[in-house]
Amino acid sequence: MNTKLYEEGEKSKAICSSCQQIVTSTFARRDVPFSDGNGEVKNILVSVCDLCDQVVAIPGQSTPAIREARQKVVKPIEAQLPAIYLDMLDLAAFTVDSTNSTEFRKVLMVFYLHRFASGEYPRERLLKAHRTAVERFKEERGAARRRLSMKVSLRIADDIKTLVDNTSMSQTEVIKSVIYQIQTDVVEARKPALLKELSALSAISA
Ligand SMILES: [Zn+2]
Repeated sequence: MNTKLYEEGEKSKAICSSCQQIVTSTFARRDVPFSDGNGEVKNILVSVCDLCDQVVAIPGQSTPAIREARQKVVKPIEAQLPAIYLDMLDLAAFTVDSTNSTEFRKVLMVFYLHRFASGEYPRERLLKAHRTAVERFKEERGAARRRLSMKVSLRIADDIKTLVDNTSMSQTEVIKSVIYQIQTDVVEARKPALLKELSALSAISA
């Protein structure tokens, strides 16, 4: 790990992927966009290729600012769901703590999305939840739908993408399956350890 403190104007050498050679570079302050296009971090010290002006290296002193900027980026997640799914989610929130508002929807969703995406909860459980939910709540044409709308961190947006990729379900179907699993665990089974964990989160988010 390189922990040298760099200053503006300082020269260095780096491999430039655009020039495809070892180049001399200069440390300069730049606004650097994230590689996935979701936002940028402003005015950080980076090493820039003297030939093509591209960023070739990011010193350790700039890394915490990048982390922070990255955590601040939020992505809107939206789904039009049969109204019963929002009811299930809100009943789960109420079961955890009767003083919870709809704000707790996001806490529940984030908690479950991360557990499924990380593999802590098996993928098969999500697929089974989907099969059961579809079977139990047949979607009639023209039935009332409500919008679930949340702003989530990039980490959670990545979790959703992982689940979409790994299950071949659409984002909406993933969300429905997760909600059904929440209602199974929280409302029906009332798993004590889980309820304890969730009510701790409820206290924090209140
Ligand atoms: Zn270059």
